[in-house]
Amino acid sequence: LRKFEMKILLASPRGFCAGVNMAIESLDLTLTEFGAPVYVYHEIVHNQYVVESFKKKGAVFVDAIADVPEGSVLLFSAHGVSPEIRKMAADRNLNAIDATCPLVTKVHLEAVKYAREGYTIFLIGHEGHDEVIGTMGEAPESMVLVESVEDVAKLEVPDDAQVAYLTQTTLSVDDANRIIQALRARYKNLVNPPKEDICYATQNRQEAVRKIACDTDLCLVLGSQNSSNSQRLRELAGDTGKPAYLIDGKADLDSAWFEGVESVLVTAGASAPETVVQECLDWIVQKFGATVEPVIIRQENVSFPLPKKLRQLQA
Ligand code: SF4
Repeated sequence: LRKFEMKILLASPRGFCAGVNMAIESLDLTLTEFGAPVYVYHEIVHNQYVVESFKKKGAVFVDAIADVPEGSVLLFSAHGVSPEIRKMAADRNLNAIDATCPLVTKVHLEAVKYAREGYTIFLIGHEGHDEVIGTMGEAPESMVLVESVEDVAKLEVPDDAQVAYLTQTTLSVDDANRIIQALRARYKNLVNPPKEDICYATQNRQEAVRKIACDTDLCLVLGSQNSSNSQRLRELAGDTGKPAYLIDGKADLDSAWFEGVESVLVTAGASAPETVVQECLDWIVQKFGATVEPVIIRQENVSFPLPKKLRQLQA
């Protein structure tokens, strides 16, 4: 018998952001309006559960435009795509619907603007991430990827006085700040957009973990391994010295993690559905008699409109 009651501190905000909600609704609506199959360039959002459930409804996820039959319906995912991909889709006569998150589009537009003005642009981000590939594609000649503070010392640019930085939307705020500081120390004229690129959802979910993790013995982050913002939440929770796990759902839970644990932080990355959170809570409650205590750090009420083509269909 346990000598103490286990408490689950349920972080809020957590889970779906406005961009993910919009992308998922877009794919749902596209499937309803056009019927299966609907092709999706890359995962609609980086979450196994979401991707698998859409596969069952007739979505086909591809990593190359060449894999989409001519004339088909194609959805661009929340992470955005480069102009080259858009052109390839047009050349293939695809009916492309763009579910890029507007906050990713914001970074694309900044890249285009700075490149046009002759700046070299440092993009702070993770190599190979869909969003980074899309953003770099806006101005490949003018952009340099910076992944770490160490990278900053190795940079070489045509003109030290014409430099700007942008960031991926889902970075660790703390890591990004360290890199920005190193860039500022090296480039006195470094410029940046008036409003930062790390999005509200990333910042709020990190803020909640930063505030709650210290009071817990174990941290659980719902999200997939390839979800950048979820990985950052797990790292942040782990930085407090507590065991922290990134899990897709209740099947990944291990009773051994809960030994001697009095309080558990539960949160979810921006692409993780609330269903998987609730299933995990139920599992912990049933197994250990835990009680759930919501901890609301901040209210969110952001929403984004559906892509224009879908809005027109609804009109
Ligand atoms: Fe948009 Fe941020 Fe959500 Fe990414 S995490 S889809 S940038 S709101």
